[in-house]
Amino acid sequence: MPQSRKNAGPRLDPRRPLVFSTVDLDRSPGSVRKQTRSVPAPAHVHAGLAGVPEGADIELRVQLEAVSQGVLVTTTAQAPVTGECARCLEPVHDQVEVTFQELFEYPDADGAAAGEGYALHGDLLDLEPALHDALVLALPLAPLCREDCPGLCVECGALLAVAGPDHGHGPAVDPRWAGLQEAAARLTDPETGTAGQNGNGHRESAPGSPAGPDD
Ligand SMILES: [Zn+2]
Ligand SMILES: [Zn+2]
Repeated sequence: MPQSRKNAGPRLDPRRPLVFSTVDLDRSPGSVRKQTRSVPAPAHVHAGLAGVPEGADIELRVQLEAVSQGVLVTTTAQAPVTGECARCLEPVHDQVEVTFQELFEYPDADGAAAGEGYALHGDLLDLEPALHDALVLALPLAPLCREDCPGLCVECGALLAVAGPDHGHGPAVDPRWAGLQEAAARLTDPETGTAGQNGNGHRESAPGSPAGPDD
């Protein structure tokens, strides 16, 4: 929501759930007002495998503090998180709590904030962009369905949490070694002997050629 950065833009709609009024806040620096509010989650709060579902209930504790340049807003947000377990891809339901602080500056004569931050729109401020960014940063990069999730069987993809600790596929053979294992079996085969693949084994590639060194 770039309209709240820099340029104060059109007047905010005070009915929007993340618009806060500072009209009750005494503007002498140090004055503080606190409030709690339950708001629907903004859209697009996602990062990697996790996200806050749009419209989900977010509990906010908001402190508005008058400072010389504007209003310093300290917010603690508690939000539900859904996603996929990074190990087993099963659904994850979790909670995230994040605290963040933003300065909403008094606009200058042109209605723009003096610095790079957010601006007050008259007596109103829009917390949505700051809340969105804070939640995205707080999302787990690798959500887990549980701390000790055993993940998936690397051979068959079975859920190890369901299959149990005894799940296995016999002596493990890395597929990259399967060819070597066959060669080893031939080399030790009593019918061909340990030299089975040497010398005579190459004749089919040059059927009419003079005899090899073995002959
Ligand atoms: Zn898992
Ligand atoms: Zn398996």
